[in-house]
Amino acid sequence: MKAVIYEAFNQRPKLVSLPEPAPERHGVVLKVEATGVCRSDWHGWVGHDADIVLPHVPGHELAGVIVATGKDVTRWKAGDRVTVPFVGGCGHCPECHAGHQQVCHNQFQPGFTHWGSFAEFVSIHNADLNLVALPDAVEFATAASLGCRFVTSFRAVVDQGKVAAGQWVAVHGCGGVGLSAIMIASALGANVVAIDIAEDKLELARALGAAATVNARSTANVVEAVMEITGGGAHVSLDALGNPQTCFNSILNLRRRGKHVQVGLMLGDHSTPVVPMSRIVAHELEILGSHGMQAHRYDVMMPMILSGKLKPELLVGKTISLEESIDALISMDRFQGTGTTVITRF
Ligand SMILES: [Zn+2]
Ligand SMILES: [Zn+2]
Repeated sequence: MKAVIYEAFNQRPKLVSLPEPAPERHGVVLKVEATGVCRSDWHGWVGHDADIVLPHVPGHELAGVIVATGKDVTRWKAGDRVTVPFVGGCGHCPECHAGHQQVCHNQFQPGFTHWGSFAEFVSIHNADLNLVALPDAVEFATAASLGCRFVTSFRAVVDQGKVAAGQWVAVHGCGGVGLSAIMIASALGANVVAIDIAEDKLELARALGAAATVNARSTANVVEAVMEITGGGAHVSLDALGNPQTCFNSILNLRRRGKHVQVGLMLGDHSTPVVPMSRIVAHELEILGSHGMQAHRYDVMMPMILSGKLKPELLVGKTISLEESIDALISMDRFQGTGTTVITRF
């Protein structure tokens, strides 16, 4: 099969021919029909992810068709259209038993802990637990864009932030994560304030439902601006970028007893940001993380997509070939476009 592989961190990946994977006893092999290119792939490629063992095939935002199943798989058969969240569970640890596969002790993450989907075929472990059925009405490219940024935002807004209609939600950063969160919070009836430094992204944020926007480049004090728009602070605020400044602002622009959800990854030099702990204590703020979403929670999200309340297809930017993914991956740190890039030609 064709696959993109790298043998050293920071060294240009290559398009090569590799043997096709065989399914694990509890797993399946998918023919990959679409797979997203994500900043997390770039973090992995430069060496920020301790799970990656070289040589490595990246790719974790995928959708495809099952071509082979292991003998212990009961829920799936060849020909089924499926997708996966980027974290899969082991099925045996306390978190998996509690239904929290997104923080499993022995995670299966294609493209990180195992070879991923920048390839014609990919092996997925614990298929009965980790696969999600893909309705015919959802295109593969749209489905691929769900598994990482979109589900993490869904969990951040719905399950962690517990956003309710009428609440104010601040979203710092309008990349793939932030725009997803804006769409999801707006669909729930919240009033969203979107914050970014790029006017075209703020325009897209308004088109996706943001009630107000703040340009952090031209606004002297972002926190004051959000406090004023929201009449005393956001009920829920997300750092959708993953940056010490946006994290700090997201906590400070909360109203009393508000919730900050850290959605953007904090890796490398950013892994231990300064937080205003005195405010967190005095105002009884809650600080939460969001790390993917369990496969079983797609049962709540998918009907909102099928009914048109959520339109993740609007977040898909351009589609590219597997060969073009090499340049897309290594330039991800300076990628400024809007919308996600998805590999659909192999
Ligand atoms: Zn991703
Ligand atoms: Zn587990």
